[in-house]
Amino acid sequence: MRKVYLDHAATTPVHPEVLSLMQEFSSNTFGNPSSVHTFGREAKKYMEEARRRVADLIAAAPEEIYFTSGGTESDNIAIIGTAMARRTSGNHIITSAIEHHAVLETCEHLAKNGFEVTFLPVDKYGMVDPGDVAKEIRKETILVTIMHANNEIGTIQPIAEIGRITRERGVALHTDAVQTLAKIPVNVNDLGVEMLSLSAHKIYGPKGIGALYARKGTRLRPIMYGGGQERKLRSGTENTIGIVGFGKAAEVGLRDLETESTRVQILRDRLIRRVLAEIPSVTLNGHPEQRLPNNANFSIAYVEGESLVLSLDLDGVAVSSGSACSSGSLQPSHVLNALGLPHEMMHGSLRMTLGSANNEEDIDYAVEALKNITTRLRSFSPLTPPLQP
Ligand code: PLP
Repeated sequence: MRKVYLDHAATTPVHPEVLSLMQEFSSNTFGNPSSVHTFGREAKKYMEEARRRVADLIAAAPEEIYFTSGGTESDNIAIIGTAMARRTSGNHIITSAIEHHAVLETCEHLAKNGFEVTFLPVDKYGMVDPGDVAKEIRKETILVTIMHANNEIGTIQPIAEIGRITRERGVALHTDAVQTLAKIPVNVNDLGVEMLSLSAHKIYGPKGIGALYARKGTRLRPIMYGGGQERKLRSGTENTIGIVGFGKAAEVGLRDLETESTRVQILRDRLIRRVLAEIPSVTLNGHPEQRLPNNANFSIAYVEGESLVLSLDLDGVAVSSGSACSSGSLQPSHVLNALGLPHEMMHGSLRMTLGSANNEEDIDYAVEALKNITTRLRSFSPLTPPLQP
């Protein structure tokens, strides 16, 4: 059976060039980069080369890159680290209702510990209004944290516009760019951010490694204490093999960004066009233009997203749903909820995210499978009205 992986927003396969460098590094180099002897210095050389490559991906300076265990930890350091460093200046944080849980849960943790958090609403496309950010900033505001693009619906936020507002008002701005890296250009100066979160496993690098960009002079406290690695912001012996892989993934990602994004977007547009034309009662979630080139998120009426995911899996097609089955109840995602979708459209949501391994035949195979499964599932449901193709 054909296998079609359409879940690149969840994670990506490791790129062969990344794997090859990681193999070379781990066969020959094992030193602790903090050691002063030759073994340590050799590991450090690889690590600093990787830091430079990651910095290049976002147009930052290498000394502004702090390696972490991934996007989640980077978000935590940015938010809790800012809160701890600036708590004498204020206790107010602004974020959006559709952030990744790594941001939402961290903000909620702070809200239970003396901070005030404003969760901005989004429009029907999942877009934050920069005017709302300006309205909510007050003298106690110490941080605005808004993601660069949403992991479920792919909507790209107007971060550069928000950055102009936060700059003018003297408030730190953090963005979670985990989903945008190597898909659209990410330039920390154009965006006007003080902090930006990165993760390797979404860009064909290894899992468990990421970074936080923090602009020179940004006030941050660590959230972990120990040996003082990563210029005292992130203690713990560095994950050197992961860092080396991350560096290569960043280099390859930047090199191939334009050609790969264009190629994937053409496939994604074919997918959207065919699904909307050939399956009745389907809508596209997220912004029609301001969206990631590899993201398609559909609401398919009269079917459950979870049933679609499981049935597609049996046909070899890997996708994800916006309604996660947790503790026996089908809970629609907070993102789809914030868009104000009707109940039945939230429950029939399906996310398909494309990547390097996909070609036109994959897309056509997935569309045919989705068509057949939707027809079958709908035929079982007494709620399905007569539908016109
Ligand atoms: N932020 C966003 C937008 C994500 O999509 C993810 C991963 O799903 C994360 C953060 C978490 O990254 P990591 O898996 O590297 O901790």
